[in-house]
Amino acid sequence: MDVLNNTDIKIMTPGPTQVADNVYRARSLRTTNPDLDPAFYDFYRDTCHLFGKLIHTKNACFILGGEGILGLEAACASLTEPGDRVLVIDNGIFGKGFADFVSMYQGDPVTWSLDYHNPLAPEVLRDYLEKDHAFKYATLVHSDTPSGLLNPVEALCPILKEYGILTVVDSVTGMFADELDVDRAQIDIVCGGSQKALSAPPGLTLVAVSEDAFAAMHQRKEPIRSFYANLLTFETYYEDQWFPYTMPVSDIMGLRQALENVASDPEHLKRHAVIAAATRKALTDAGLTLYLESGFASSVTVFYVPEGMKAQDILDTMVKEHHIMIAGCFDVLAGKVIRIGHMATMPMKQI
Ligand SMILES: *Cc1c(COP(=O)(O)O)cnc(C)c1O
Repeated sequence: MDVLNNTDIKIMTPGPTQVADNVYRARSLRTTNPDLDPAFYDFYRDTCHLFGKLIHTKNACFILGGEGILGLEAACASLTEPGDRVLVIDNGIFGKGFADFVSMYQGDPVTWSLDYHNPLAPEVLRDYLEKDHAFKYATLVHSDTPSGLLNPVEALCPILKEYGILTVVDSVTGMFADELDVDRAQIDIVCGGSQKALSAPPGLTLVAVSEDAFAAMHQRKEPIRSFYANLLTFETYYEDQWFPYTMPVSDIMGLRQALENVASDPEHLKRHAVIAAATRKALTDAGLTLYLESGFASSVTVFYVPEGMKAQDILDTMVKEHHIMIAGCFDVLAGKVIRIGHMATMPMKQI
């Protein structure tokens, strides 16, 4: 299947997504040396501010040079000290995956495994925490892309905060597809990526870090056991006019355009919700069964592979006959479900 440069293929995978043309153009502009150009520090800072505005936070925002997974690892690397108990809320494949990062940095992950078909209800979290709340931080996923599950982070994170537990939220697919108000949710570290609802190519991580999270990093007894995944190295980049490594300037120019696309599109979230609802209706009307019972994200719709069919055959037919790339799944859902990604920032006519 040779589709690398095939512009006739419509990308409807749950990330990476179809990239907006003006993002491609922004990435092709001439640049200077970003390490030495004071104008780049301003450009970077303004881009971070725009990101912060769009996710409704006054927390410090950073763009890291690395695909979205970098944010998840950086959050765990920066917060975890040997022996720290960390609550890993597992109601999806990415949710479960956080335990690996916690262990890698010698923390003690307490994986709380829940139903994958419904979001975590605030009262269920409250009951759990009443019994056990000795955690330094908790990890959870805003929108778990393998199942399309949306967790109510604005209800959940403040409860964790009440118990003095810091929160790390993977919103790589959540942000810009579903509503996210980071300050209202009181999220300490929220992670995003360039290649999902932003319609930019893969390669960048976006993070917003609260004062409490930075305080926890400064109070560590042991230094952070990473350089690339150490969030402290970004804390004073602007005052110092220094980045820990050369910033991928062209990627960031593309990202800036993608953020401006979202900022200039007041219908952005509403359109995602309408398309998601229409997708669910079309699938169920056609007799297919959705994976989730409730908590549908606006970014991706997931349905069971009909009995007697193979996931790969459906995907191949979609590309060959309909020129549309959709996706299967991995881990516990491998071969069982098909995923239709419908996150894209541009109004349909402009894609
Ligand atoms: C896409 C995504 C990431 C980044 O991981 P990749 O699969 O490597 O792109 C992290 N978390 C979630 C929820 C994602 O959807």
